[in-house]
Amino acid sequence: MKTTGYAATDASLPLARYEFNRRDLRDNDVAMEVLYCGVCHTDLHQARNDWGWSMYPVVPGHEIVGRVTRIGNKVTRYRVGDHVAVGCMVDSCQHCDQCRKGEEQLCREGNTQTYNAKDRIDGTTTYGGYSKHLVVREEFALRMPDGLDLSKAAPLLCAGITTYSPLRTWNVGPGSRVGVIGLGGLGHMAVKLASAMGADVTVVSRTRYKEADALALGVDRLLVSSDGEAMRNAASSLDLIIDTVPVKHDVNPYLPLLDVDGTLVLVGQIGPLAEPSTIPLLMGRRRIAGSPIGGIAETQEMLDFCAKKNVLPDCEMIAIQDINAAFERLERADVRYRFVIDMASLAA
Ligand code: NAP
Ligand code: ZN
Repeated sequence: MKTTGYAATDASLPLARYEFNRRDLRDNDVAMEVLYCGVCHTDLHQARNDWGWSMYPVVPGHEIVGRVTRIGNKVTRYRVGDHVAVGCMVDSCQHCDQCRKGEEQLCREGNTQTYNAKDRIDGTTTYGGYSKHLVVREEFALRMPDGLDLSKAAPLLCAGITTYSPLRTWNVGPGSRVGVIGLGGLGHMAVKLASAMGADVTVVSRTRYKEADALALGVDRLLVSSDGEAMRNAASSLDLIIDTVPVKHDVNPYLPLLDVDGTLVLVGQIGPLAEPSTIPLLMGRRRIAGSPIGGIAETQEMLDFCAKKNVLPDCEMIAIQDINAAFERLERADVRYRFVIDMASLAA
């Protein structure tokens, strides 16, 4: 199928319109028209080759909401017209222990990312949701729950699940004390989800600039990381910290915020850390961990949770033609709190 999208053709060039083909439907594939696609900081990292493995052209986008337009012969889960969503993965081996327990994101053979990866059957490059159409195997399509606003739901597919999963892994619930470093796309979802789970939530931001927003989003307090006295006063006050900072940084100032047995979970793919000191780790039996997205079953659970609790991201809707300006704003942390592309803006 011929389709149209927006692609980065080089790390230094702006994204531009790009025509390409989607594969013919395999028996277990669904084809979808993309209605909305969120803009994740990962899209910016990949377009700019920050991680060194971009295969150009890169068509970014892994927060995808659409409508099924065709189904393969053996598809059982979806019908034409259904509203579906796709996140950061489009395939995995499906037979290893991790896949069998629904943790495809941790597939022993590596999951297939929605873009900038190789299809595990025909070896072609995967292209993401900054495009009119997508073809995906049905096991990696999520069902959109009734009542969830389609125009706002897209960011749940990455920012939502990436923060929901560690909140669930570390058993957050009423009485938990959760910290969130960085109030951006992931950070604001962490805040909303942790609040909806009944936790007491602290945002740790670089300045007081986003304080009014943070309180409106449901946080209990904003802590300014550059305010040494406030940071000292907040020592041992958190059980779990989700660190969403998208660049290399020093975690040492944050570790003392954790109480005994507390965990700081990194979700930013930032490569080497500045050297963490063992002192706060040993003295408080604290831990540093990482967490990648979530499995398909957990992503569906998160969507259903958001529909039930009416948890939705704060979105700024843009046209695809505005994507380069949006990237520049994302780089300056000037987004409240997720850009979503209305794909109707892209002529076929
Ligand atoms: P974002 O919207 O740009 O938000 C990042 C926030 O971090 C900013 O709003 C800012 O908050 C803070 N920040 C930015 N630069 C900083 C700096 N130099 N020092 C300290 N804080 C800084 O990004 P995002 O879309 O939430 O993504 C965050 C990271 O998660 C990215 O690296 C992305 O690739 C990664 N990610 C990982 C996964 C996964 O599966 N683990 C999934 C999705 C994304 P304040 O202004 O409040 O300080
Ligand atoms: Zn993402």
